[in-house]
Amino acid sequence: MSGIALRPLKLTAGLDQCPAIGPRRLARLERRGIRNVLDLLYTFPFRYEDRRVRVTIADLREGTETGLLATVRTIRKKIVPKLRAPVIEAEIFDRTGSLPVVWFGQEYLLKHLSGGTQAFFFGKIEYSRYSRSLVLKSPVTETVDPEEGFRKSYHVGRIVPVYREEEGISSAVFRRLAGDVLRSLWGETFDPLPPEVRKDAGLMEWFPAIVEMHFPKETDRPLEELLTPDYPPRSRLIFEEFFLLEYLMMVRRKSILVSGRSWELPPEGDRPVEAFERGLPFPLTRAQRLACRDILGDLASTHPMNRFLLGDVGSGKTLVAAFAILQALRSGRQAAFLAPTEILAQQHARTLGQVFGPAGGKDNAFLPVLLSQSVRGGERRRILSSLASGEQKLVVGTHAILEEGVPFHSLGMVVIDEQHKFGVAQRRALATKGQSPDVLVMTATPIPRSLALSYYGDLEISLLDELPPGRQPVTTRVLKDSGESFWRQKILPVLRRKEQVFVVFPLIEESDTVEAKNATEAHVTLSALFPEYRVALLTGRMEGEEKDAVMEGFRKGDFSILVATTVIEVGVDIPNATIMIVENAERFGLAQLHQLRGRIGRGGLPGTFYLVPGPSTGEEGRQRLKILETYSDGFHVAEEDLRMRGPGEFMGVRQSGLPMFALADLVRDTGVLVRAREAASRFVGEAEGRTESAWERSRLEEFIRLRYKNVDQWLSTR
Ligand code: ADP
Ligand code: MG
Repeated sequence: MSGIALRPLKLTAGLDQCPAIGPRRLARLERRGIRNVLDLLYTFPFRYEDRRVRVTIADLREGTETGLLATVRTIRKKIVPKLRAPVIEAEIFDRTGSLPVVWFGQEYLLKHLSGGTQAFFFGKIEYSRYSRSLVLKSPVTETVDPEEGFRKSYHVGRIVPVYREEEGISSAVFRRLAGDVLRSLWGETFDPLPPEVRKDAGLMEWFPAIVEMHFPKETDRPLEELLTPDYPPRSRLIFEEFFLLEYLMMVRRKSILVSGRSWELPPEGDRPVEAFERGLPFPLTRAQRLACRDILGDLASTHPMNRFLLGDVGSGKTLVAAFAILQALRSGRQAAFLAPTEILAQQHARTLGQVFGPAGGKDNAFLPVLLSQSVRGGERRRILSSLASGEQKLVVGTHAILEEGVPFHSLGMVVIDEQHKFGVAQRRALATKGQSPDVLVMTATPIPRSLALSYYGDLEISLLDELPPGRQPVTTRVLKDSGESFWRQKILPVLRRKEQVFVVFPLIEESDTVEAKNATEAHVTLSALFPEYRVALLTGRMEGEEKDAVMEGFRKGDFSILVATTVIEVGVDIPNATIMIVENAERFGLAQLHQLRGRIGRGGLPGTFYLVPGPSTGEEGRQRLKILETYSDGFHVAEEDLRMRGPGEFMGVRQSGLPMFALADLVRDTGVLVRAREAASRFVGEAEGRTESAWERSRLEEFIRLRYKNVDQWLSTR
């Protein structure tokens, strides 16, 4: 069972070059995504089993799993009429005693075991009423090669790895493959981490770490410890996974930030944050102030700003954006504010108009214009020409601003709301729009810091982890259903108080899904139920002007209830809305629901957020929604969401090509991620001008491409 001579293997070798892998097994491995030696090495066991020889026959106890080193005295096949397969019965002995062993149907054992054979047996000791003695039942058995001794066995006499059994490849087969490959790589000195990085972080070398992940050394500590991120081989590899990703991010960041920035801060800008604050009706929060300072720091550097503003719903990101824009405007540059939807663009234009009205002086030079699909004809032409001449300083709109090649005279600042709707290609397009403007991107939904670092690692991050004071609490309730009595008992009193109600549906008229309740239908039902109140309908299918009219009507209070699809998902501000009911809530991500929740309780009145799961929602789905009952903090919710759905799902289908981590956990290992990011940044910074670093870097990049085959595609589409 051992002793296959192995040719030395290369890490880059395909599995067809490994011994003992025929075409069938090759195909199965391929289906598991394992194509080369590295793939195999990075397929780690999910647990370990202690199959060391710890006892002699004399100290055996019933009910324990035990490894024994013993010699076969007798072995024979027995046919038991009631059983389909033959029973193999043996007696084994060591210097302390002897023990019966049985296997069911493993006839091949007769070929390997006979009187006098020394072997390892690992299995469970049970009491047999039939033979009235302890019996070792169906143990894993491996003969001892007298020359190699037991150290060389993969399966017994040691702590052994247990692998997932997929595509018909058993754990034992996988263990042997891993063992053979490791043996043929023995003495490998390759390490993807640059030596300085590894030493600074105090980590193990690569090959020993890989070996010990598969075949741990003897330890007296509990085996569970091998599964924790503190187990040295594991912690080394977790760091490595993060380092590789962050390295890529740093490299890409350099490729985006090609040129120097084109404008300087206004000269009189000695306390610009305080000056900005004096123009507002309320003080900035501490977090807002810090973010503004971060931005000032960026604007004082020679590179364009490339910053990510990460904030909970309602944390006041818009004002921070306004601050950034103002700095550019005062330097005589133009600024563009991109919003994901038309409704939001309008709202941002209004907010910026209020903030900049006074700041722009008598001629209101900083007032924004709105540019979107619905602006057409002569008006559009006028706007375009005023942007081209530089007369118009600030434009707010949807990303149509970018795609249609709107000419700017001197674009110095771009703010992008809801970053995840804009890919890196669009950011790059922006950066090349003439004068490499400063860029500030924002999320509409909080995402965990770890995910921000790994997805947007090429951006600097500012965190708004604080809400403005005086926010009213929003209570969250998961309902069983929303029948008529709910509406009469809970909603009617709200309407009587002249507060407003959102009803949200995940889909509109998706005819092939019976389950999806229909917003249009609900509009009719609610209109009938509350004849004395006006109910409005807002769907994604409506034309821009129609939508605007509905939103405007709701904002003014013409309607009491707004039935909507998720067009209202982002940022809309209706202070008088205190109730939101989300139907088929299980179809939304938690972070998205939290985003919706942020739409209510904004005007000093406490709010209630009702979640109504669809009828086919299971207990797990309900529990997931209940997380929102418990947590009101968006970052907490996002972490839970990430924990439950994993990064691919969390970020949405478009981004699911993320190179997945084999060991690292974005929720658990955030601290390691931060350290790896710092190390990558230091490495890339210091690598400039060092001759040996070119080699280190090409090795690193080669390794990344081998390890994450889709990485280039991922980088280009993200
Ligand atoms: P978000 O971060 O979700 O985009 P907004 O920028 O829309 O949040 O701000 C939410 C609300 O909070 C707005 O009505 C805004 O006027 C208000 N706001 C922002 N900053 C402050 C502050 N420092 N103090 C009080 N209210 C604030
Ligand atoms: Mg916002």
